[in-house]
Amino acid sequence: MRYSQMFLPTTREVPSDAELVSHQLMIRAGMIRKLTSGVYSYLPLGYRVIRKFEQIVREEMTHAGAEEVFLPIVQPSELWQESGRWLYYGKELLRFRDRHDRECCLGPTHEEVITDLVRNEIKTYRQLPKILFQIQTKFRDEIRPRFGVMRAREFGMKDAYSFDEDEQHSEISYKKMYDAYMRIFSRCGMRFRPVEADSGSIGGSYSHEFMVMADSGEDAVCYCSSCDYAANLEKAEVARPQVNEAADTVEPMEEVYTPSVKSIEDLCRFLQIKPSEIVKTLVFSADGRPVAVLVRGDHEINEIKLKNYLHCNFLELADEEMIRAASGASKGFAGAVGIKARIIADYSLLGMNDVVMGANRDDFHLRHVKIGRDFRVDEFADLRMIRQDDPCPKCGGKITIARGIEVGHVFKLGTKYSKAMKAVFLDRDGKEKTMIMGCYGIGIGRTVAAVIEQNHDENGIIWPLVLAPYHVIIVPVNLKEKNIASAADKLYGQLLERGIETIYDDRDERVGVKFNDADLIGIPYRVTIGPKRLAEGTLEIKDRRSGEVTVVPIERAAGFLQTVIDSQK
Ligand code: ATP
Ligand code: MG
Repeated sequence: MRYSQMFLPTTREVPSDAELVSHQLMIRAGMIRKLTSGVYSYLPLGYRVIRKFEQIVREEMTHAGAEEVFLPIVQPSELWQESGRWLYYGKELLRFRDRHDRECCLGPTHEEVITDLVRNEIKTYRQLPKILFQIQTKFRDEIRPRFGVMRAREFGMKDAYSFDEDEQHSEISYKKMYDAYMRIFSRCGMRFRPVEADSGSIGGSYSHEFMVMADSGEDAVCYCSSCDYAANLEKAEVARPQVNEAADTVEPMEEVYTPSVKSIEDLCRFLQIKPSEIVKTLVFSADGRPVAVLVRGDHEINEIKLKNYLHCNFLELADEEMIRAASGASKGFAGAVGIKARIIADYSLLGMNDVVMGANRDDFHLRHVKIGRDFRVDEFADLRMIRQDDPCPKCGGKITIARGIEVGHVFKLGTKYSKAMKAVFLDRDGKEKTMIMGCYGIGIGRTVAAVIEQNHDENGIIWPLVLAPYHVIIVPVNLKEKNIASAADKLYGQLLERGIETIYDDRDERVGVKFNDADLIGIPYRVTIGPKRLAEGTLEIKDRRSGEVTVVPIERAAGFLQTVIDSQK
């Protein structure tokens, strides 16, 4: 395409809300423009990249045996009532009424619609397994849309759904999608990790998030430096510590007056101790009942683990009233000795012997508390957040914590939707069974933004070839010089003939401006045609990523470019 005819508004201006490099560069490179909060238009350059990524997704989905469908965005409330989500989804679900006063919503995801479709058409085990996917717009009324298309309200997603006759087959479908995701993100040249994720009440380790490693990522993940263990922070298990039976004698427990001690730091200063010698007692309300949860002073409770452990529906920190009823003291002075609540403790307390904790009396703490002697723990469990350098739960190696962007998610749904919505089939012996489902999402715009997070420099985007909106940009140094113009015209024609996607920068601009734009929009190969080289029958080809310049005879340029491009496809 001739640059002079393109709708490619590059700019130096960066909106003040664009914190992330990818957001800034997508605007500066003329890929996207904001319409309103969390809602973006893709301009031609941006949309070309989107389509390339979608094509990779489509190929890998098809390769994995999935078939493409296209489901409606507008969905009737009845289906959501059937699944139970109409009540629970909250404000991310954009609801409205049509002219007949029927309640509808814009699809934030499509489990209901696909389950409805499949239950109406699939009747026997012979029609299973089925994996269906679509690439469709979703709407989620996100509370804090930000980072451009990374966390938008309207965004493109590839969502796939699998239907199987039993657990074993469902696992095969899951594995197929998992493998397809590995190929998709590898083909885009990304540094990523699949990490175990929490699957809530569904259980098992059947949820993986695909995380693109980036310091700007919103999520924290941990991984082992010795084995392949990786999990998101909410999910990461902490190994039960090896404890030697402590024979130490501990002095008798005693109360200490600790006025105006409000925090762990205050207490450490006051008693001249370390946070690891303190036990924090947090009172939670689990489905309305008090539970005292004990963790070491320097550890954090992982509420997701706690909730899964307690198998409760609602979990929150108890209010003052509940804390007082259980402990007899105000917030900050609860302790395990004499508390009227079920007591559960993190594994790390197993090795602790002589600890400091709240005294269940305002302005007092206890010291020389011995677990087992002074109070009893009802249960020990893994309840805390993993930390940097903790031992790996799988191999004992060292855990590293890093940041990532969740670009994809594979999830074993089990019968959550099929049961609620009665998606059943007749199995081999004529018995009615409920289908086992899985769901699999990839954020299209978010992945493209994540690619930019990993592939840019101070001058702009550096596209991996497979996603580049164009492969080559021809920059004639001065089009007023006839021989330069005709050499550029000729090369442009040759490249088009070979099917090489090319921008011909035929604008009447200074060459510096053209170079800056070429760098900004990230085209992998820039061909410069200038008077000096032309006089000796050559031109320059610059590799955007390495910066390497190759001087090539003009008549060999098209062939040269074809070879380097084909080698990366
Ligand atoms: P997050 O925790 O980031 O909100 P999610 O768990 O809600 O993500 P899923 O429901 O699993 O996301 O959706 C599948 C994929 O869709 C995500 O992995 C992500 O790539 C993409 N996605 C989700 N929400 C958004 C959004 N607001 N903007 C852009 N992409 C999104
Ligand atoms: Mg979300």
